[in-house]
Amino acid sequence: QFPFGRRLPCDIYWHGVSFHDNNIFSGQVNKFPGMTETVRKITLSRAMRTMRDLFPLEYNFYPRSWILPEELSLFVAEVRMMKDSNPSWKPTFIVKPDGGCQGDGIYLIKDPSDIRLTGSIQSRAAVVQEYICKPLLVDKLKFDIRLYVLLKSLEPLEIYIAKDGLSRFCTEPYQEPTLKNLHQVFMHLTNYSLNIHSGNFIHSDSANTGSKRTFSSILCRLSSRGADVKKLWSDIISLVIKTIIALTPELKVYYQSDIPAGKPGPTCFQILGFDILLMKDLKPILLEVNANPSMRIEHEQELSPGVFENVPSPVDEKVKVAVIRDTLRLMDPQKKKRKDSHVTVPPQEQWLGVRGHPGLWEVSRWQGLDGLSSEVAPKPTRAALFCRCQCSEQGAAASEEPPDAAPGPEAALPSLCLKQVFPKYARHFSYLRLVDRVAALFIRFLGVKGTTKLGPTGFRTFIRNCKLSNSNFSMAAVDILYIDITRRWNSMGIDHKESGMCLQAFVEAFFCLAQRKYKAQPLHKQVLSLLELCECRLAALHGKRLVWGCG
Ligand code: ADP
Repeated sequence: QFPFGRRLPCDIYWHGVSFHDNNIFSGQVNKFPGMTETVRKITLSRAMRTMRDLFPLEYNFYPRSWILPEELSLFVAEVRMMKDSNPSWKPTFIVKPDGGCQGDGIYLIKDPSDIRLTGSIQSRAAVVQEYICKPLLVDKLKFDIRLYVLLKSLEPLEIYIAKDGLSRFCTEPYQEPTLKNLHQVFMHLTNYSLNIHSGNFIHSDSANTGSKRTFSSILCRLSSRGADVKKLWSDIISLVIKTIIALTPELKVYYQSDIPAGKPGPTCFQILGFDILLMKDLKPILLEVNANPSMRIEHEQELSPGVFENVPSPVDEKVKVAVIRDTLRLMDPQKKKRKDSHVTVPPQEQWLGVRGHPGLWEVSRWQGLDGLSSEVAPKPTRAALFCRCQCSEQGAAASEEPPDAAPGPEAALPSLCLKQVFPKYARHFSYLRLVDRVAALFIRFLGVKGTTKLGPTGFRTFIRNCKLSNSNFSMAAVDILYIDITRRWNSMGIDHKESGMCLQAFVEAFFCLAQRKYKAQPLHKQVLSLLELCECRLAALHGKRLVWGCG
């Protein structure tokens, strides 16, 4: 810890809250610039909406959401329309203030005309979301899952998921929402910070009882009831990868602004907390992403009125220590050097090579994680599996890394709890990365390093270089498009520090151009066609410039 500042450069910097040190020119930092802003409720909802517009089926794991106050009338109109088309639909909505956490300011409503909604939205921006009324219950209680995800690198994209997480329980038996029980937070909200104040909260030293348990204990229970936990894991992996794909465009804009390419700077990684709810049919639903998940491994206990003591929490310790330890192992700057001297092991062997002692649950869990790649990787024979398990017991450490040739410092450590899911499953998801490519165009035309918004000249240059204007779409029309969209986005009060067109506004303009040019196709095809056209024309222009440069 450097409470009074730091002088010497470090290999790894571990910041408590966010990326804030402008004085780092090398090494690795545990926060990405702009992550906190990118996962705020409103920004996340917007990013998910963009992806859902492109890929409605792939992004149906995020509840339908509206942003308040700007979309209040849209919310009212859409709910009315859905009710008209399905009179038996009796929805409930959850209102969450933007930037809130720990359940702060959250409430449920049955009707968009609820006075609490219309009365409060002008004072605080919020997201109103369809409430998932039929969650999976365990012991009659609602619970959610906190999963830890390591974003190891943005470019190239590398994602790891912790093999175990936490399940946080409500403290009152669940009932579907009615006007009578809407306000009962201990029944509807799973936040630890709220439920800890309920008289029913149970601190348990065991991983499979009490108000906070390991996720693996829940899976074990589901598995014993015959549930398909393999499919559940594969759905969770998809949810995580798709969510990060939705977040990367915005993160890349922040990244180039804080750590411009070509200048000395650190690389970044970050542990994210994914909050996931399971529906009765085991479909995972994303609730939110936390940029700064709590890594506390103790809880406060009131010994006598007003006197508190920190008590170890074995469940937190089991999950969180492994996540931090293995994040450091993966980011270890010495690792690359050691790795370079290893013999490469084929990917499926790496994966199976270090199982430790898989029990019944372990086996099904691994199969679940491997489910996505089952068509890709041939299944090993039992003999091969046995042989590799033997190897693991002799001290191989990391499932994603080649075993150490000579017993290194990792030999004494347990196998990695972090499982690589990207680029491992990249080929299943790469087609979703369209907005990433739109963001690459945006960044290319930003011009001045350190900015996050595109000026009118940059937008004109983009249109000109990609040859998108013609007799039907004059440069005057281009300027009007720029002004219209930019003004609307800037009036939403997101970021007034800089003037110009933000990434989301550029994405909207790009979609608009794509729809105009390629009529009567699904949106994702229109966007893909325009992207290919732009990329092709820019490559040709770049080629010409190189030739001119040589000449
Ligand atoms: P916060 O950041 O304040 O914790 P969350 O989005 O995590 O906000 O919501 C708090 C809690 O409310 C969640 O842990 C979950 O129990 C419940 N919740 C949130 N959104 C929904 C939803 N769409 N359907 C059902 N329950 C939800």
